[in-house]
Amino acid sequence: MRVVVAGGSGFLGSHLCEALLERGDSVCCLDNFSSGRAANIAHLLSTPGFQCTTCDVTGRFRVSGRVDAVVHLASPASPYDYHNHPLETLAAGSRGTENLLNLAVRHQARFVLASTSEVYGDPQVHPQDEDYWGHVNPIGPRSVYDEAKRFAEALTMAHRRSRGADTGIVRIFNTYGPRMRAHDGRVVSTFVRQALRGRPLTVYGDGGQTRSFCYVDDLVRGLTAMIDSSHPGPFNLGNPGERTVRELAELILLLTGSRAGLRFLPLPVDDPVRRRPVVDRAREHLGWQPRVPLDEGLRRTLAWSAAPTETLTPPDRS
Ligand code: NAD
Ligand code: UDP
Repeated sequence: MRVVVAGGSGFLGSHLCEALLERGDSVCCLDNFSSGRAANIAHLLSTPGFQCTTCDVTGRFRVSGRVDAVVHLASPASPYDYHNHPLETLAAGSRGTENLLNLAVRHQARFVLASTSEVYGDPQVHPQDEDYWGHVNPIGPRSVYDEAKRFAEALTMAHRRSRGADTGIVRIFNTYGPRMRAHDGRVVSTFVRQALRGRPLTVYGDGGQTRSFCYVDDLVRGLTAMIDSSHPGPFNLGNPGERTVRELAELILLLTGSRAGLRFLPLPVDDPVRRRPVVDRAREHLGWQPRVPLDEGLRRTLAWSAAPTETLTPPDRS
């Protein structure tokens, strides 16, 4: 297969490129390097079958040669990134999705959309299965991301229904692991950075809000299964192990041996209170389920983050 990975130099994208190359596929990575890093894919540049084009998928770009699948991961993804780039986020979900759908249709290729648990907003149903329609504030600060992804899902289904496109949607829940940017503002990367530097961990609100954290290798197995499937989805991809943010903080303090404790800060507007995926559908149709427990995934993430290259990060902002 020759797979176009839009957003391939980012956190999830670089792991996906690696996994596809490992199983013998060719990869064409498209990225504007807004939140992606050249270092994430530097080791792939000499791999036969890997190619990277710097471009913005919301504008004009060219992909030459055969295309068997297109995976759309290109979007600002952390609350910090999409708050700082609201218009780019809306464009990535709308024009970016349309351009990549057109590319897939032209090549009669499989199209996989990386959607998000954020389509459920601050959910009033718990846990969340794929039949839940969500509870999203359409004008709140998170809406640029949530609504862009909801629009992207609608656009994907419209191309499937009206143009016969071979599409699949996955709704990704909080995923963590090596190559998260230390300053992307997400909770795992922030707590890991703070704990390794002996700083207090910044817990927003009282830390009673919950998330379900999936290790990146598990997530990438789900993405490759969706590329290989012809099922439209949507499928939740996430780890159903639900933790409060405070529990996560305490676990990271324990694993790092940090004694710096917690620092409580105000909860951001519209921060979802609870989040846990039901993954029965992905298990049934993709044969997928997460395998890596949180403490093991955090150990691997901490080992990577503590390695020397990760000290080459911007100055600490917290
Ligand atoms: P990331 O920021 O590391 O990766 C996004 C990549 O897309 C970056 O390499 C960035 O440079 C690139 N990009 C952004 N806009 C682009 C554009 N217009 N043109 C070309 N490239 C562009 O984030 P990530 O965590 O790897 O997320 C990847 C995808 O998965 C995103 O679409 C995100 O919404 C989705 N997702 C991620 C998570 C998670 O927990 N990591 C959860 C839900 C959904
Ligand atoms: N969070 C926190 N401290 C931080 C960063 C995040 O307590 O330094 C909280 C945040 O308020 C949210 C949860 O951790 O309740 C997950 O935040 P993240 O930005 O990782 O993802 P999302 O909100 O998109 O699930």
